[in-house]
Amino acid sequence: MWTGLLDKYRKYLPVTDKTPNITLHEGNTPLIKLQNFVRQELKIDLNVYVKFEGLNPTGSFKDRGMFLAISKAAEAGSQAVICASTGNTSASAAAYAARAGLKCFVLIPDGNIALGKLAQAMIQGAKVIAIDGNFDDALAAVKIISEKYPVTLVNSLNPHRIDGQKTGAFEIAEQLGRAPDYHCLPVGNAGNITAYWKGYQEWQAAGQIKALPKMLGFQAAGAAPIVDGHPIKDPRTIATAIKIGNPASWKQAEAARDESHGIIEKVSDEEITSAQIKLAAREGIFCEPASAASIAGLLKKAREGFFQSGETAVCVLTGHGLKDPDRAIAVAPPVSKSSADIQEIAKLLGL
Ligand SMILES: *Cc1c(COP(=O)(O)O)cnc(C)c1O
Repeated sequence: MWTGLLDKYRKYLPVTDKTPNITLHEGNTPLIKLQNFVRQELKIDLNVYVKFEGLNPTGSFKDRGMFLAISKAAEAGSQAVICASTGNTSASAAAYAARAGLKCFVLIPDGNIALGKLAQAMIQGAKVIAIDGNFDDALAAVKIISEKYPVTLVNSLNPHRIDGQKTGAFEIAEQLGRAPDYHCLPVGNAGNITAYWKGYQEWQAAGQIKALPKMLGFQAAGAAPIVDGHPIKDPRTIATAIKIGNPASWKQAEAARDESHGIIEKVSDEEITSAQIKLAAREGIFCEPASAASIAGLLKKAREGFFQSGETAVCVLTGHGLKDPDRAIAVAPPVSKSSADIQEIAKLLGL
């Protein structure tokens, strides 16, 4: 039986016998090989897999790091945790805090949270405050609050988040039998690219893999501070999970890019939406917009002739599509209306 990341990777995590295991059995997500999509879109013989992190307990990869951040907060005797969030961090923090019996405080940018994520934080008992500001403002606020008051910060500045999230690299390497040639992912606050690179390096040091992947990170064009080389005051993108203008792990993301001989580039909202729709309609895999930035980036690089036939790429699908139903309904083909008449229905169906 799968009982979560602590039981599986205890040896590689900063835990002792005294650390409680606050788990919802996160991790062990599938690595799915794309079929139709690759043939139709890429036109080269690239092996493309998606790591579907939307299948974690609260529907995003945030659970990988949150289980450890909350376990360590509980171990330290903390009574309350706080985070700034574009949505998924709050959903995950609220769930694990509930499990641990801790209070959870959440600051979100007002009006910019996908519906599913907000619903999760609310029903899982977090105290949610929507601030008049963006994610970067919310993060600045929770940093100060966690220094002044007895609450533990569980944003990815908390090193336990990164240590939990690095297990994604271990799993991919185990599922493939080696590291991929390319590891593609969206970049927002840049904790995840930092964590994956750390994970691959540790797995290599542990003798589990020989070669390391090239890290290919993708930001949304209107929220691409690392690509543009300066913070963005008013980031804009439909991919709310990566709508971040001043990433906390900026330096670490650049290190991951440079040490792995990878890239961090940008993709437009149109490319993101198109990738999200194609993945859903042609492969049956429904991810949220930010996640599709990894696929959009892969497609862009493939068009540029970046990959060689026979190589292997893994794209991390960071969150589930059901997180943001409004967006899916806005971009999908509309529902047709009909009477219950069989002939009318058949006509509409083109039968
Ligand atoms: C948090 C999040 C990201 C961005 O990850 P960072 O670690 O902030 O770079 C991307 N996609 C989804 C769905 C997320 O929840």
